[in-house]
Amino acid sequence: MTSDPTLLERLLAKRLLVPSGVDGLYGRSGAFESIIAGIDSIATRVSANDGTEWYRFPPAMARVEFERSGYMKSFPQLAGTVHAFCGDDHGHGLLIDQIEKGEDWSGGQEKTDLVLVPAACYPLYPMVGAQGPIRDGGRSFDIQSYTFRHEPSKDPARMQLFRMRENVRVGNQEQVLSFREMWIERAKAIMTELQLPFDIVPANDPFFGRTGRLLKASQREQGLKYELVIPVANTAPTACMSFNYHQDHFSQIWDLRFENGERAHTGCIGFGLERIALALLRHHDLDLERWPAPVRKALWGQ
Ligand code: AMP
Ligand code: ZN
Repeated sequence: MTSDPTLLERLLAKRLLVPSGVDGLYGRSGAFESIIAGIDSIATRVSANDGTEWYRFPPAMARVEFERSGYMKSFPQLAGTVHAFCGDDHGHGLLIDQIEKGEDWSGGQEKTDLVLVPAACYPLYPMVGAQGPIRDGGRSFDIQSYTFRHEPSKDPARMQLFRMRENVRVGNQEQVLSFREMWIERAKAIMTELQLPFDIVPANDPFFGRTGRLLKASQREQGLKYELVIPVANTAPTACMSFNYHQDHFSQIWDLRFENGERAHTGCIGFGLERIALALLRHHDLDLERWPAPVRKALWGQ
């Protein structure tokens, strides 16, 4: 008896994704990347008149800023830190020996000044803080980066390295909340144009441990996070976009203030680029040529 191949197996068989031997770490084919480029172009098009400042950060950030962010208090299970060999000849000999014998060679690794970026907006707030007081209307940003989360899985929509395209608003409470509302409406229009079935639902982040349970409940209760979910590979729908209101959490850490001294609030909306690409593949076809013409037009203008 043969069973239906999973979406992951079909993606690998079609070489849309390339296996690495590690769950959640894949190469992407040209066809897969053309979908990502199409989603990126839609994100650019819908926000063309927003007066957004564009920045692109590498997928690692300064360890000291990561430490200040408090990420380890909330999500220690997801973080990836960069370590490197900093020893001498003797240490090098030991290292080679351990690798050859298949022994644990991590003891000789030392922490570097880098940590992998856990969400595309994390490197932005230290920059905004360092650039000084914020003018009245606040600031809006467009960012895109590979991000890392240590959550190995056979679900192709749960990767360890994936891209987030984010729009971030730094402003007062009202500016941030209306920005989030606007993006929820834009996201609904985009998914309708892409002919994907979706729902917008209250959500919470995967805060760690016992105290994390309380944080999850309060995040939901206060309506701080919404997600746009689409059935992808799992029986449960998968979060393909998120709409987050951080209140003044990041502003307290990096002292983001208006010219009058008032503390700013922040919010971000994130496109999970791989997840949206996977949703399109799942709902249309693994062969991009067979996608509905209006969907192709929305992505690639043809
Ligand atoms: P979050 O910061 O958790 O709200 O993530 C922002 C977006 O990134 C989510 O809405 C997803 O679309 C995407 N995302 C989160 N985790 C993963 C993952 N492990 N693999 C692929 N995409 C992810
Ligand atoms: Zn963000």
